Amino acid sequence: MAGRLLGLATSVFSRFFLKMTKTNHTISGLLLAEIVIAITCHDVLSIQGIAHVLQNKHICHALAPLAAGCFTGALFPDVDLAIPGLGHRTLTHWPVPYLIGAASGYVFHLSWMLYFCAGCLLHIFLDSFSLMGVPLRSPFGKRTGFRVMRVGAFSETVTAVLMGVIMYRIWILF
Ligand SMILES: [Zn+2]
Repeated sequence: MAGRLLGLATSVFSRFFLKMTKTNHTISGLLLAEIVIAITCHDVLSIQGIAHVLQNKHICHALAPLAAGCFTGALFPDVDLAIPGLGHRTLTHWPVPYLIGAASGYVFHLSWMLYFCAGCLLHIFLDSFSLMGVPLRSPFGKRTGFRVMRVGAFSETVTAVLMGVIMYRIWILF
C-alpha cells in the first residue's frame, strides 16, 4: 500500500515538473519575481547587489519566499496536467481562490502567499490569451479570454522574447 502510494506520488510529482516548465510561464515567473524585487529592494538587481544579498542572511530570508512565491505561483496552475481526472484549465485555472488568497496574504502580511497568488493570477492572465481560454465564472464552466494566441505558435515565442527584453530592461534600469 505504502509502496503504491509512493509510486503514485512520484508519478504525479514528475509529471507535474515535466509538464509545468513551459517556457512562457517560467519566464513570466522570473519576470514577476524581478519586478517585485525591483520595487521592494532594487539594490539587489546588480552583480554587487546579488553578492551583498548572499552575504546578508536577513535580506536573503526576506527575498527568498517572495521570489520563490512569484516563480512557483506562475507555474502552479498547470498542476492539473498531472492530476488524473481533474481536467485541464478547470479548478486550478479559476482566479477566485487566488484573488481571495492574495487579499488574505496582503491583510495578514503573508508575503509568500500574496506573491504565490499573484504568480498564479499572472499564469491565468497569460493563459487567457490562448485559444482555449480560462474559466472565469465557475471552475468547470465556460472558458473565456482574449483568445489570440495558439499554444506553441510563433506569437508565443514573440511573447517569451518580449518578456525577456523587459527583464533585461529592468535589470539595466536599476
Ligand atoms: Zn495553464
